[in-house]
Amino acid sequence: MGERQRTLVRGAGGFIGHHLVTSLKRRGYWVRGVDLKYPEYEPTQADEFELLDLRRWPNTLAATQDIDICYHLAANMGGIGFITDYKAEIMHDSGLINLHMLEAARTHGVRQFLFTSSACVYPGYRQHDADVTPLREEDAYPADAEDGYGWEKLFTERQCRHYLEDYGLRTHVVRFHNIYGPLGTYDGGREKSPAALCRKIALARDGDEIEVWGDGLQTRSYCYIDDCVEGIYRLMQSGEHTPTNLGSDRLVSINELVDLIAAIAGKRVTKRHDLTKPQGVRGRNSDNTKLRRVLNWEPTTSLEDGLADTYWWIHGQLAKAGRIPQEALK
Ligand code: NAD
Repeated sequence: MGERQRTLVRGAGGFIGHHLVTSLKRRGYWVRGVDLKYPEYEPTQADEFELLDLRRWPNTLAATQDIDICYHLAANMGGIGFITDYKAEIMHDSGLINLHMLEAARTHGVRQFLFTSSACVYPGYRQHDADVTPLREEDAYPADAEDGYGWEKLFTERQCRHYLEDYGLRTHVVRFHNIYGPLGTYDGGREKSPAALCRKIALARDGDEIEVWGDGLQTRSYCYIDDCVEGIYRLMQSGEHTPTNLGSDRLVSINELVDLIAAIAGKRVTKRHDLTKPQGVRGRNSDNTKLRRVLNWEPTTSLEDGLADTYWWIHGQLAKAGRIPQEALK
């Protein structure tokens, strides 16, 4: 069935997009990937890969030609440091990309369309406690999204709904909660907390101190990349068009995350909390009631297993680059 359907993955040079291309190829789809850059850590398996700036309308239109199914992941984004410091740039770039992408899909008669939204759409006033109540999809309103990045996602969620209602474009919207795994950015300022902590611990010697942003008591849930890609696929097979959480519902503090990674690495580390660094909301967790109902499924990879894969991949990258001091090599 897959081979007859021509799929487009926008953002195919990025972390989730690259994994998605690999899984779609495994399922037999013909895939065109588009991004500003090629995947950084291994070659793409896409049938075609075009380097295009999707902020530009002619590029978006060209990229969407002869496509049945469009997975839209391209976004100017990063971890909490990046989304705190670059709000205008994020809203400008991703706003343009998103408006163009929906219009190009409509123009070319795309049959099915996925928009990757984020848990950052949830209101700040529901996330003041580390022991947070898991967030249900309907909790996004009354809106008070993460400034910049979250508002851009919420705006595009609405536009997906309007394209479905006004033009019949079959849009699907998924809200990711902290996706992590191998082949993701682990350095340079755009990395997320699991990758950043894996890098710091890989570079540390046994007994070293590592910097942790905030007091470490802030909480999150983390979803492994293989579960993310499986969930995307299942959502596209479902008839569900309203936003759906895709994440784990196991809540951990950042301090616990550090301890888990240190145990995987076999190192003792001391945490130096830097309270001047951004830490985002105090607590955030996914309520998976709708996910289970709609997909008859939920993520299965344990945090311990997923972090072990991620840690040893990042460790391998740093070792290859000669960045791990001899005393820290284990
Ligand atoms: P990523 O940064 O690795 O991938 C995004 C890709 O978009 C990058 O490869 C980037 O080059 C590309 N891109 C940016 N601007 C572009 C442009 N003008 N033209 C073409 N390509 C452009 O991020 P990711 O983690 O793979 O996230 C994928 C999607 O999922 C994004 O929409 C993101 O907002 C969403 N999301 C991710 C997470 C997460 O935990 N990773 C959480 C919530 C939502």
